[in-house]
Amino acid sequence: MIEISKLNAWFDDHHVLKDVDISVPANGSFGLVGESGSGKSTVLRTITGLVDDWEGNILVNSKELGAKRDKAFYRLAQMVFQDPFGSLHPRHTIDRILTEPVNIHGLGNSDARVVEALNQVGLDNSFRFRYPHQLSGGQRQRVAIARALILEPKILLLDEPTSALDVSIQAEVLNLLSRLRRELGLTYIMVSHDLAVVAHMCDDIAIMNHGRIVERATAEQLAEGKLEHPYSQQLYKAA
Ligand code: ADP
Ligand code: MG
Repeated sequence: MIEISKLNAWFDDHHVLKDVDISVPANGSFGLVGESGSGKSTVLRTITGLVDDWEGNILVNSKELGAKRDKAFYRLAQMVFQDPFGSLHPRHTIDRILTEPVNIHGLGNSDARVVEALNQVGLDNSFRFRYPHQLSGGQRQRVAIARALILEPKILLLDEPTSALDVSIQAEVLNLLSRLRRELGLTYIMVSHDLAVVAHMCDDIAIMNHGRIVERATAEQLAEGKLEHPYSQQLYKAA
């Protein structure tokens, strides 16, 4: 579903991604861990076309990401950000927040889509007419997930999706994400600095340090700390 090879990216003369290779099968879940600044978000942002200066190959659903912006391509992979407050427009109702992407992509039937997307994330219709500040943190993140789902993507790119939430709410949102993957057959790449979250949510994991993948592990190996690279061991001990 996602094949990334030899991905390099730069911000001006800062070389932030170095030969990153990632392969995720359909319905798979891939976790990227590493400390702040290691380049995790830049990997996701490159896939969604938010980074200008990059080289390498990015194949999504066997289609290659080229230089030209292609709405249909970007619709396939939707991103969910860490801070739902920052990513939901404060003066727009939830209804408007969910309707806008439907209109931008010319999908039609926006009323029915809004109802279904809210239903998928466990929110009833009354939430349509609220504003982001009238929701709890967990509910806001559910709206952010609904906004991604409303475009019927095949892939969710999850950038620290629960890091801003209380621990009890974190578990609820992670359970929701697991259920959605199962029920909708979605493919995930999840970024987190939290090894336990990634070991719980992902089948395959890569550990990043200074823009490079330094080690790959299965969820089991990560949970048991069976890691070889000194940086990975350090990360495991600190967790
Ligand atoms: P992570 O998500 O692992 O914390 P990022 O991918 O956000 O790391 O950042 C990787 C590096 O790229 C950092 O050094 C960061 O400061 C830099 N960086 C990220 N975004 C930009 C940007 N828009 N402009 C310049 N530098 C950036
Ligand atoms: Mg980040």
